[in-house]
Formats: sequence, C-alpha cells, structure tokens
Amino acid sequence: MLGGGLAGLATASCLAEAGFEVDIYEAKAFLGGRATSWPMAGVPGEQDSDEAELVDNCQHVLLRCCVNLIDFYRRLGVSDKIVYHKQFSFIEPGGRISSMRRGIFPAPAHFAESFLGLKFVNFREKLAIGRAMNSIPSEWRKRKDLDRITMLDWLREERQPEAAIQRFWYPVLVSAVNEELDQMAASHGLQVFWLGMLARSDSYEMGLPAVPLRELYDAGALGDRVRIHYRTPVTAIQIGDGGIVSVECGERVHADYFVSCLPFERVEKLLPALPVEWGAFAHSPITGIHLWFDRPVTNLPHAALLDRTIQWMFNKRGGRYIQLVVSASRTLSEMPRQAVIDLALRELAEFLPATQLAKLERAHVVKEIRATFSAKPGLEALRPVSTTSFPNFFLAGDWTRTGWPATMEGAVRSGYLAAEAVARAARVPRSFLIPDIA
Ligand SMILES: Cc1cc2nc3c(=O)[nH]c(=O)nc-3n(C[C@H](O)[C@H](O)[C@H](O)COP(=O)(O)OP(=O)(O)OC[C@H]3O[C@@H](n4cnc5c(N)ncnc54)[C@H](O)[C@@H]3O)c2cc1C
Repeated sequence: MLGGGLAGLATASCLAEAGFEVDIYEAKAFLGGRATSWPMAGVPGEQDSDEAELVDNCQHVLLRCCVNLIDFYRRLGVSDKIVYHKQFSFIEPGGRISSMRRGIFPAPAHFAESFLGLKFVNFREKLAIGRAMNSIPSEWRKRKDLDRITMLDWLREERQPEAAIQRFWYPVLVSAVNEELDQMAASHGLQVFWLGMLARSDSYEMGLPAVPLRELYDAGALGDRVRIHYRTPVTAIQIGDGGIVSVECGERVHADYFVSCLPFERVEKLLPALPVEWGAFAHSPITGIHLWFDRPVTNLPHAALLDRTIQWMFNKRGGRYIQLVVSASRTLSEMPRQAVIDLALRELAEFLPATQLAKLERAHVVKEIRATFSAKPGLEALRPVSTTSFPNFFLAGDWTRTGWPATMEGAVRSGYLAAEAVARAARVPRSFLIPDIA
C-alpha cells in the first residue's frame, strides 16, 4: 500500500481484518497525512517549557454523521479521545453571540427554538432560510442537476437574502467543503445540511480530538498483519502485461495487490497512464493561524466568526491557545506571515475583546496550499472509483469517488471501498462501508 494517511490506514485496517498481509510505504516519518500534528519547540504552556509539543497542522473537525470515520476511530481504539460538542456558537464583530443546539422537537425541526433565537439574521431572513431548508430533503439525491450548479446558484434559486447567505450558509459550508459558495457543487452543500444538520437530531454534534491528531494513529492498533515502512516514498511504479508488477521505494517491492492511497497530484506523477481526467482536479487551500496568549481570552470552546476573513475559532487550552481557521483561503496564500498574524489579531479583537489586554506570546501560521481538492460542479462523475484499468491496482484517497467532499470521512470511506475491491478481486468478498445516516 502507498501512503499512510487516513485512507491508507483505513484500507490497511480492513484488509488486515480480512486476513491479508499488508505493507504500508509512507514517505514521512509519521502517520496521518494531512490530518496530523508536528512537534514544535518552545510552545508556551501552563508551565512554560522548551520541550517540543505536538501541534496539529490545523484543527480537524468531524460531525456525528461521519459514520465511517467514527467506526475507524473505534477500530483504532481511540473513540474516547473524541469529545462531542452539542452547541455551535456564532460571534458577530462587536462580540454578540448566538448559539444553535438541539431543542425539544424531533428531526428535522430539532433546531427550531435556537434557530428562531439567532440574533445575526432577522425574521425575514430566517423565514427564507427555513424555506430553503425545507427544500433540501426533497432535492438532495433526487434532483439531477445538483452536481452541475454551484451552491450559490441554488441559494439564489431559493431567493436567499444576501445577509442569510453571508452569515448563515457561508460559515457552515465554506468550512465543511473548503470551497467558496460560487465554486462548490450544490450537491455537496445540500449534503452537508441534510446529513450534518437535518437528517438526525444528533448528527450535527461536533467531534474534536482531545489529543493531538497524531496520537490517534497508533500503528500497533492495526494489528500484527500490518507493517509500516516510514520514510519510504514510492518513486516509480512498474507496469507489466497483466497489471502492476512492482513499486520502487528504495528497493523493488512485488505484491499480489497494490493500493494507492496518495493525493491525486502524486498519483498523476507516478502513473500518468491511468485513465483519469487529471486536468479536472484542482486544489483549494486552508490557512491555520495558531496564537498563544499569556492569559485566557475566551470561555467558548469554538465559534464561527462572522463577516471577516477569519472564519472559525477553536479554544485549545483553557482559552490561552487559540486556533483560527480560514478555509478556501486564497486571499491569504500570497500574504506574508506577519501580515496574516496582524490581520488575525486585528479581526479577533472585534470578536474577543479580551485579546486586546492579553499579550501574544507566540504565533504560527500554516498555509496548506494543497489542503483539499476543489469540489466544483461537474467533478463528481470524474472522480475515479477504487478499481482501475489494472486488475491488481486500486485507488483510495479523499479525492476518489466517495460521494463526500475532501474530508476525513471521505478518506476513510475511500479506504473501506478500496479494501472491499481488493477482497472482491481476491475472491473473499467482504463488506466494510457503513451507509450514510440517511
Ligand atoms: C489544513 C487542513 C484542515 C482540514 N480540516 C478538516 C476538517 O476539519 N475535517 C475533515 O474531515 N477534514 C479536514 N481536512 C481534510 C482531511 O485532512 C483530508 O481529507 C484527509 O486527511 C485526506 O486523507 P488521505 O489519506 O486521502 O490523504 P493524505 O492525508 O494526503 O495521505 C496521503 C499520504 O501519502 C503519503 N505520501 C505522499 N506521497 C507519497 C509517496 N510517493 N510514497 C509514499 N507515501 C506518500 C503522505 O505523506 C500522506 O501520509 C483538512 C485538511 C487540511 C490540509
């Protein structure tokens, strides 16, 4: 197997359960791919220390509707390290806070009370949002053109006022799909609202790892049948008459089956012969801004920040370590690091006035230019399935045809699907994928 990100680990876990011997060749010295952490020295803490601390490349969030990811965490034995939050907060510039949480009504009306109480949209805007929400169950997976139009097209069709788009739909969707509303396929927008918000009354609950991401991936939890070869990048793939013969990774490795769990740009380089429309795939960036203050600046665990460049805030350590996330962050890509920090501090002061009295002890900016693929209209049908034109070569990775945007859930689903495809090819069919909640 090529790659030890979530797709690779999910594939390996299933194949080992089915009795296969698995070797993972991973370029880096650790697991987790894009959902991982890095050691950082001199991070200010409760007792300041020069010891390196694991810091996530960026906050990773899941919802309870991510059923395969949750199953994967169960396989790794780390379900208890995910903490679920039942309340979402939205902060306006100036500091006014609104919250959404489940109320007394059954799904899909479970947000009714808290939705009516939101202060950042007026009654007319709420009526319009309610009307659009009402259209979602009858359109998602039923209306044929949702993959061809953008989410913004759909919102305009639904006659959504500008404030409702910018303050309600935008903060939820741009972070969930990592793309602008005028560039994301409406199918993914409706999917997020249906599966994540409406279909079940607990599906919106937000799971946040209580430990650094890297600590979730203990190679030992994959069992004795899985061997991980760290710092072993695959540099070439040899093709023969009957399929793939071997891969080059320092030595030539032969196997019965090969599964690529690499991002699309790597697969294109290694195996351009695969019949994939590579030109259809493009990246969308995410910027994470990590700020360590000398004192707590908020009690909220997290919040969407409205009307500004920074979009979400996560409180990582008693309010002293704040992680800010900007999805589809193209406007920050070229901006110098210090300018990003200055912008973030300026904007954060509008939401959390306590930051004005606090001293910034350290700041760190992570610009992930290749964070995810851009889930634009027309792409879904071009995403390759797990089987390929080579009978012993399979594809996994968040960019393959999972039906989900680029997410940890999408990566795990791709791994489960690839494991099913390998098991079918080996004539020991198994079923691993858990269907969507609705
Ligand atoms: C900043 C950021 C924030 C995100 N936030 C969220 C979030 O909140 N929620 C969410 O669900 N998703 C989020 N995502 C998306 C999520 O991280 C990805 O969709 C998912 O981790 C992709 O997993 P993967 O296994 O498909 O690919 P990857 O994680 O990219 O794994 C590929 C692996 O292959 C290895 N590799 C590459 N080339 C080679 C080679 N030649 N040989 C061997 N190994 C190689 C890489 O080192 C890597 O380990 C975020 C992503 C980023 C970047």
